[in-house]
Amino acid sequence: MMIIMKANATPQQTEAVIAQIKEMGLAVHLSQGVEATIIGAIGETHNIPTERFESFDGVELVQRITQPYKLASRQFHPEDSLIPVDGFNVGGNEIAVIAGPCSVESRSQIIETAIAVKEAGACALRGGVFKPRTSPYAFQGLGEEGLELLAEAREKTGLPIVVEIMSQVQLDMMLKYVDVFQVGARNMQNFNLLRALGETRTPVLLKRGLSASVEELLMSAEYILAGGNQRVMLCERGIRTFETSTRNTTDINSIPVLKNLTHLPVILDPSHSTGHANYVAAVARAAIAAGADGIIVEVHPDPAKAVSDGKQSLKPEAFAAMVKQVGQIAQIMGRGVASVQGQYSPVKQGWA
Ligand code: PEP
Ligand code: MN
Repeated sequence: MMIIMKANATPQQTEAVIAQIKEMGLAVHLSQGVEATIIGAIGETHNIPTERFESFDGVELVQRITQPYKLASRQFHPEDSLIPVDGFNVGGNEIAVIAGPCSVESRSQIIETAIAVKEAGACALRGGVFKPRTSPYAFQGLGEEGLELLAEAREKTGLPIVVEIMSQVQLDMMLKYVDVFQVGARNMQNFNLLRALGETRTPVLLKRGLSASVEELLMSAEYILAGGNQRVMLCERGIRTFETSTRNTTDINSIPVLKNLTHLPVILDPSHSTGHANYVAAVARAAIAAGADGIIVEVHPDPAKAVSDGKQSLKPEAFAAMVKQVGQIAQIMGRGVASVQGQYSPVKQGWA
């Protein structure tokens, strides 16, 4: 239930409503936007009549949130949420270009990739160190050693790092390194993991499950938000359909659908959604044209030798060309491309 306060409501009037909500055993979520103060009463509210709050001084309107997700809904939070990541925001006017290898493989591989994607215009570095592989015999990731390498790449380039977490048992160790936690498609409904991430204040990039509906994705986001972590970005990464010419089917529709239903930023992953390097740039352009707040793209210095997802990984040159095109589409949409304040020195051939 949302209680929308009058524009001239006093802080005392807002406090009185909050006290009443707490007395009823409900959680309070306060959203103080430019236009209005909205107080969310979260919990079992279906038996509480709206009149219960309508008589309070300073109350403009009491409304039920009709969707099963509350904190994630645009009804509750009409303005776009900005998610602060080191040096830039996701969800604002500038689109985020996140890039890097599927897996961190070696020091030279991650440093070389980080420098290349930074030069091409990326604002964050991705790299997996715990890999959710279909086969238990496939490469599972470098673990903490991979995080050390990512931290070194961050130091060299200034790029914040986006890393997948597979279980809450990895959380304490990973918190020391990670700027943005990625929750992979296979863990979208790992509710214990979502709850644990809800207790942190580290931004989370939540990927859509392989066969999950938009509503299920939003319900998973709700788990993180309900824990108190408001820094959630959603990621469309393709869904399973009968089509076999691509690895997954990019649900471009989900971008405007999500932008309508939620205030959370929406990122598209053209690498996993197509599965082929040749199709990545086209789908990345489409994503920005459809209103996505960014893209997350797999890049590898030598895709043929990649230990995972080489087929869908772009070479640095192809990535650089794609960033230019994406920038042009962003411009048509009245947007720019986010960048971090790196201090790359061409003379030193490295990032200071
Ligand atoms: C990945 O980002 O490398 C990955 C495993 O993605 P997804 O969870 O979307 O399959
Ligand atoms: Mn991958």
